Amino acid sequence: MESNSTKTNAGKERKVKGKVEIDIQRCKGCELCTTACKEQVLRLSDTINIKGYRYVIANNDLCTGCVNCALVCPDAVITVYRTQPKKKPVDITPTDIREQIRTLIVPSK
Ligand code: SF4
Ligand code: SF4
Repeated sequence: MESNSTKTNAGKERKVKGKVEIDIQRCKGCELCTTACKEQVLRLSDTINIKGYRYVIANNDLCTGCVNCALVCPDAVITVYRTQPKKKPVDITPTDIREQIRTLIVPSK
């Protein structure tokens, strides 16, 4: 059966999925965000940016969209996006609804 939720590192189900975008050329590799992220989404790169710093990269599959990383970043280089799970399809069609309305407004004989 397909689920709309995703498991976290702790194995807990979560409803909201997150995604972070990092302006890597402005990152100074201070690691405040990697410490703030409880899901271990963020880590420093092996390469350096134009400022000569190792920058932060993300594994967005694990992101919950909690925004902690963006709040602690002193240079505001992280943007967090949140997505809600898709709504479950309902097992009723417009034809079904019209039929139900018809039975309500047309008196039975
Ligand atoms: S939004 Fe939360 S879970 Fe996602 S990378 Fe930032 S701190 Fe980690
Ligand atoms: S807190 Fe900001 S500047 Fe520091 S490592 Fe994270 S993204 Fe880079």
